[in-house]
Amino acid sequence: MRYVIVSGGVLSGLGKGVTASSIGMLLKSLGYRVTAIKIDPYLNSDAGTMSPFEHGEVFVLDDGGEVDLDLGNYERFLDITLTRDNNLTTGKVYANVIEGERRGDYLGKTVQVVPHITNEIQDWMDRVASIPVDGNGDEPDVCIVELGGTVGDIESAPFVEALRQFQFRVGKENFVLVHVSLVPVVGVVGEQKTKPTQHTVKELRAAGLSPDFLVCRSEEPLEQATKDKLALFCHVPSSHILSAHDVSNLYRVPLLLEEQNTTAMVAEKLGLKMTDNRPQLDAWREMANHVDSLESEVTIAMVGKYTGLTDSYLSVIKALQHSAFKVGAKMNISWVDATGLEPESESKDPELYTKSWQDLKAADGVLVPGGFGNRGIEGMILAAQYARENHVPYLGVCLGLQVAVIEFTRNVLGKAGANSTEFDEDTPHPAVIFMPEGSRTHMGGTMRLGSRQTNIQTEDCAAVRLYDGATEIHERHRHRYEVNPDMISDLETAGLKFVGKDTEAQRMEIIELTGHKFFFGTQYHPEFKSRPNRPSPPFFGLVEAAFASQS
Ligand code: GLN
Repeated sequence: MRYVIVSGGVLSGLGKGVTASSIGMLLKSLGYRVTAIKIDPYLNSDAGTMSPFEHGEVFVLDDGGEVDLDLGNYERFLDITLTRDNNLTTGKVYANVIEGERRGDYLGKTVQVVPHITNEIQDWMDRVASIPVDGNGDEPDVCIVELGGTVGDIESAPFVEALRQFQFRVGKENFVLVHVSLVPVVGVVGEQKTKPTQHTVKELRAAGLSPDFLVCRSEEPLEQATKDKLALFCHVPSSHILSAHDVSNLYRVPLLLEEQNTTAMVAEKLGLKMTDNRPQLDAWREMANHVDSLESEVTIAMVGKYTGLTDSYLSVIKALQHSAFKVGAKMNISWVDATGLEPESESKDPELYTKSWQDLKAADGVLVPGGFGNRGIEGMILAAQYARENHVPYLGVCLGLQVAVIEFTRNVLGKAGANSTEFDEDTPHPAVIFMPEGSRTHMGGTMRLGSRQTNIQTEDCAAVRLYDGATEIHERHRHRYEVNPDMISDLETAGLKFVGKDTEAQRMEIIELTGHKFFFGTQYHPEFKSRPNRPSPPFFGLVEAAFASQS
């Protein structure tokens, strides 16, 4: 097994995840099987209990793992399927060690960070790196390990030490360290500043790790003089100092690294065979060019909780973009704060109210994404009503499906006050209810999670067409509430069809509204399996219908 470690310095949010994914993609294009591990030095066991508004989206895997959004980047870039163990957290490491201590694994010994925690980390990497991820059951050849946070944080110290030891365990010829840093431009002269990078490399080297490559984030391409200076101070040859300057689209990142000979240099260090026959890379280049050439635009109103952090809905955004690229348009997401649509905001914040409704009406399609808690729910219900009544393409994901069902129950079935028991425990008409098997005491990992089968109920529906004629589909879930089975027959009689159900036909998975050009909802989260060249079918359905409705 070969390992490519990607660490980061200076500040977070430099695009370490994209760098890691890009390097993985480049090695994969040589014909090697590539997997990835993300290390998150926080104490949570997983991302399941973390707010997406603080930490970015919670990504969900087939096995039900609730993980860091970087695993989504790996899955999309490398077209692989990861497991919960591919996300290593401090919480998981300590839990294992403490459990082992209680079992008596360390009998007689004092259990310590070094060597017990650091050994656990190395054993974990060793074990998880060989889990097959590409569906063929073959062991990967290369494992990308991304170390979250920045080197020098107290939290990441045990991991840095574990990696230092790991280079000897696996052999230096199987170990490449890529350090991602920032090269800012300050002042009127516009000089590229190397000091922050010098400092972070110094810190890394003090910890016993010497980077093989520096990936420098900057606005403009790194100048030769900058590279030379970094080479001098950082103990890295200037050919191994890579410029990761701003590019027109994300797909350009691997190409940018490729142009700087990265693949050949990493391959050489790891003893991998270089080849010029790389159809995957060609396809990738084509995609990057296609994205840059797009002229028309399609606008989707995303009606959710307001967030300045687009990472909160990362996979949803990706799924929309993948779909737009396929119809041949740029994706323009119009963020509509759901609370702004609510009647109360007309007096409380008239400007927001007017803008929210204007934006909703100006869009070609409406999307209500997943969510928890009752803030903005009434606004989302109004958005669903607007889309239903005005024949505007609508996609509801998870909460978005539930909202559409509540709206329909209230306004078509005439059951005033219908709601989900999540938002109103005493609602006279519970259209959405708590699932019987859910836990009311434990929040972590207790939802209906991961991949489940949906059976399509009829040939005569959009779902069959979108899923290429498949009648059994597998998508990822993350919810506690479901459509109340007692309401199904009334809803269906009135035209809201449950065209997808689980294998026991107990859980409602897909809704479609008869007579509407595209009014679709899924209890699952289709965004998690979207790929650049294979957009998620429900998202594609929305974007296709929205684009078509322009003319
Ligand atoms: N809050 C809803 C539930 O738990 C929807 C969840 C979601 O959208 N992921 O069922």
